[in-house]
Amino acid sequence: MPDPSAILTIDLDAIAANWRDLAARHPSGPVAAVVKANAYGLGAQPVTRRLLAEGARHVFVAEFDEALALRESVPRDVPLAVLHGLVAGAEAEAAAAGVVPVLNDLGALRRWSTHAAARGARLPAILQIDTGMNRLGLGRREVERLAQDPAPLAALDLRYVMTHFVASEEPANPLNREQVARFDRLRAMLPPAPTSVANSSGIFLGDVAASDLARPGAALYGINPTPDAPNPMRTVVTLEARILQIREIEAGESVGYNSTWVAARPSRIATVAAGYADGYLRSLSGRGAGLVGGRQVPLAGRVSMDLLTFDVTDAPEAAPGGFIRLLGPDLPPDAVAERAGTNAYEILTSLGARYRRQYRGVA
Ligand SMILES: *Cc1c(COP(=O)(O)O)cnc(C)c1O
Repeated sequence: MPDPSAILTIDLDAIAANWRDLAARHPSGPVAAVVKANAYGLGAQPVTRRLLAEGARHVFVAEFDEALALRESVPRDVPLAVLHGLVAGAEAEAAAAGVVPVLNDLGALRRWSTHAAARGARLPAILQIDTGMNRLGLGRREVERLAQDPAPLAALDLRYVMTHFVASEEPANPLNREQVARFDRLRAMLPPAPTSVANSSGIFLGDVAASDLARPGAALYGINPTPDAPNPMRTVVTLEARILQIREIEAGESVGYNSTWVAARPSRIATVAAGYADGYLRSLSGRGAGLVGGRQVPLAGRVSMDLLTFDVTDAPEAAPGGFIRLLGPDLPPDAVAERAGTNAYEILTSLGARYRRQYRGVA
């Protein structure tokens, strides 16, 4: 294989360490592995296998197809839950695959229950109550209707009743407590079931968000769950892009599309193999930075589809064939996200398919 242009290293040891750390911070119940969106861009298969080896006993994906892709990697006694729930008509397939749908409305609940009754076996389910997102889940009126006629629940093995925070990364936001109070009020109308409340940031809210199962994603992957304080998690990604060429330019020459960057002095420009087609967001134009030998080098000019240009005038160690670091423990996704005007979730889930991926600590 030719030398790779850009190398994305994913540290499964660090993801496992983050999982253990979160488990220690959530004494009220176990901690699931949320691996939707290809484990936030980092690889659902290797991440799931490693977290199962570490002791995770619950796996969450967003879509049914994501669950099918993981089916062979997840033992049948580990709930493989689908947050988006059950598409009408998919009941038989979902039951055969042994997935646990998150039931988000009464229609899905009835369909799953009817299917269970027809099979003569209770089917596992998680029931979501919407307490403020207004996105997915039963609202107050639907919970009241279900309370009046709970018969459909009898055919199901209700593993958890869950809800999802609107702003758990803001510990002072009163909405956190209000959502939990609403959740407790609504679920009290239904037959008792274990609860699942906290996402990553929720775990750091402590007792308010205590439940029988936490569902962290972001913090596993090193995203700061406490944005107002130093990141307690380990960074798990390192991205190095190859320097294809170094150009010596004169003061007054411009770099890149539309001449947005003009050299103020004689400059050395390093062109590296990554661009917005690789998820290096174009909004980093004029704002991004890389690292060469631990030294920050500013992006010069616009982000192109396949190329980036850096001003390496002050980094004499930059040389063709070498690498510029675009992400790493010293340049974490949260810092890049801030410069790009987005969050670290988007930085990770955008990481491109062209990067050569290598994994540390494969289970
Ligand atoms: C994505 C998601 C999570 C995980 O959230 P993080 O903030 O990444 O920890 C948990 N629960 C639900 C319903 C989600 O959609």
